[in-house]
Amino acid sequence: MICTPSCEDRDGHPLALFREDQICFGTPHPTPLSLEDAERSGDQERAAYVETYTQRHPGGEPSVHLYAATVRDDMWLDLTPDEALKLAESLTAVATLVRADAIPGERS
Ligand SMILES: [Zn+2]
Repeated sequence: MICTPSCEDRDGHPLALFREDQICFGTPHPTPLSLEDAERSGDQERAAYVETYTQRHPGGEPSVHLYAATVRDDMWLDLTPDEALKLAESLTAVATLVRADAIPGERS
């Protein structure tokens, strides 16, 4: 198997037990989520986060993988590049509206 150029391993995944385990993953781009509750286990605390990275399953098309880890649940989504760019536009538009909604003098 030939890895995608963005694959972190880039070795064809020879140690994968099954072909369907030969998944190319790119470098994660994490974003901590300060408005979500952190996960606590003993003295450890893990902030909720969402991360994106490239992914390709054997025989499949590369996709934008979105992973969200929160106290309530974890979530995975695969998006085409066009869908990811549309989502990025939506996030930018809504974030701009939220910043405009912030009341001066209050925490933003
Ligand atoms: Zn790979």
